[in-house]
Amino acid sequence: RPAFDAERAARDFPILAEALPSGKRLVYLDNAATTQKPTAVLEASDAYYRHANANVHRAIHTLSQRATAQYEGARDKLAAFLNAGSRDEIVFTRGTTDGINLVAQCYARPRLAEGDEILVTELEHHSNIVPWQMIAETTGAKIVVVPLGDDGSVSLDDFKAKLSDRTKIAAFAHISNSLGTVLPIADMIAAAHQAGAVTLIDGAQAVAHARVDVQALDADFYVMSSHKLFGPTGFGALYGKRALLEAMPPYQGGGDMIERVSFSGTTYNEIPYKFEAGTPNIAGAAALGAAVDYVEQFDMAEVFAYEHALLARATEAMEAIDGLRIIGTAPGKAGIISFVMDGVHAHDIGTLLDESGIAIRTGHHCAMPVMERFEVPATARVSFALYNTQADVDALIDGLGSIQRIFG
Ligand code: PMP
Repeated sequence: RPAFDAERAARDFPILAEALPSGKRLVYLDNAATTQKPTAVLEASDAYYRHANANVHRAIHTLSQRATAQYEGARDKLAAFLNAGSRDEIVFTRGTTDGINLVAQCYARPRLAEGDEILVTELEHHSNIVPWQMIAETTGAKIVVVPLGDDGSVSLDDFKAKLSDRTKIAAFAHISNSLGTVLPIADMIAAAHQAGAVTLIDGAQAVAHARVDVQALDADFYVMSSHKLFGPTGFGALYGKRALLEAMPPYQGGGDMIERVSFSGTTYNEIPYKFEAGTPNIAGAAALGAAVDYVEQFDMAEVFAYEHALLARATEAMEAIDGLRIIGTAPGKAGIISFVMDGVHAHDIGTLLDESGIAIRTGHHCAMPVMERFEVPATARVSFALYNTQADVDALIDGLGSIQRIFG
């Protein structure tokens, strides 16, 4: 396998070569929001509709067989990618948000009662907070929050201190989307299990930037979004341990999730189909399968090392800019840099960088409690993917330097 080459990888992503209206080169540094799509993924989606479009699991005709093979083939690919024990433990969803809501409604809601606790951390994305608040409201359970350190880290000791025999579920991110913090999830999962709690890991930011092995982690539930892994939007997966999924009631009712329907009573399909009511996003699955193939052509350890080196160089250069403060400096963090600049609102940083063709995210990053913790209304956020290069970092540093000269 040839050594990983980000510039070559960038050529696989047609949008990165598109001329912006300003004539500037696109410098895409908003990968934590969504990643761009390589040609192989675009072609898989197109090819599905051109050559295989039909409904899955139903008809015996050729196109339906092709559609089913692509849909179920993607399940096999994702099961291998996450190292699930079985393909049946992969439930296709609309994404991370949908996966968390599924677990909240189907696992937590029937089991939790007054006095039970749901443990989350202070750095969670709203999608790993609000579904639990909804469960707390209907069951009387309580949300308990693990506080963040000043560097944006989550310490195992603080997590353990919040666990109790009342903790029924512990739900936490693998990597923070707002700060880049990598949580000590293997140890957190073990500690949660010792306390008798079930764990849900929000892997939205992790799947493209860290090795995920759900069996080695002993995760009970692990959720991901296709669009953060170079696949299409509105699609994703929930990994769940077989025994847990089998013991859960269905999420939604409809076609495909049943075994037999009658007005005297209906029986449900086996997992994972029990959780996949209605005609699914077949093209989404086909394209996610292509995205998994795309990343698996690389030695991912080499890709992650590359991203870390890029992060280290960008961090060093940004720290040298007067009045710029990075929020979230936990050791071993992933390729996300949240920052504020004296005298410039985050939105103005975003707008000015956009004039130079540089795409970043500004705002609360769907993590308002993090903004509150660090007492800022918003941050500007740069986030890397495997196709970002030193030239992208140089453009960013140039852009930030001019903003500092104007406002500083
Ligand atoms: N959790 C984290 C950590 C995220 O970064 C995101 C996406 N920003 C989500 C959850 C929600 O993912 P989706 O919008 O694809 O459901």
